[in-house]
Amino acid sequence: MLYASVNGDGAAEVPQLDGRHAAEAISGLGLALHARPPGDDLVVVDAKVVAWTRATLEAFCEQLRAGVWSSCPCGELHGQVETDLAVLRAVRSDLLLLPAWSAPTEASTRPATNG
Ligand SMILES: [Zn+2]
Repeated sequence: MLYASVNGDGAAEVPQLDGRHAAEAISGLGLALHARPPGDDLVVVDAKVVAWTRATLEAFCEQLRAGVWSSCPCGELHGQVETDLAVLRAVRSDLLLLPAWSAPTEASTRPATNG
């Protein structure tokens, strides 16, 4: 959300990051960690939270990869390319841990009809 903010995504005609979903992802992950029983290594995360997290990170990676977003978009080069590449590598490896999930469509939840 910091990258989206400093790169003016909120003011873009079509923002690339859904701020509400990003916020829901952060809150949902925090609540899941908080709800973990003491001594338990397993954290249960709602599928919607996983989907919002994945969508947020994918949008973030795409903007970084395309060079649209930068850790410092001031226009001068002072190491932010290396920083952005390191962040991109880290977020891509985080994405490997997230299963792909898609919301059921109306058609897939509707009972099949005969004829
Ligand atoms: Zn700068």
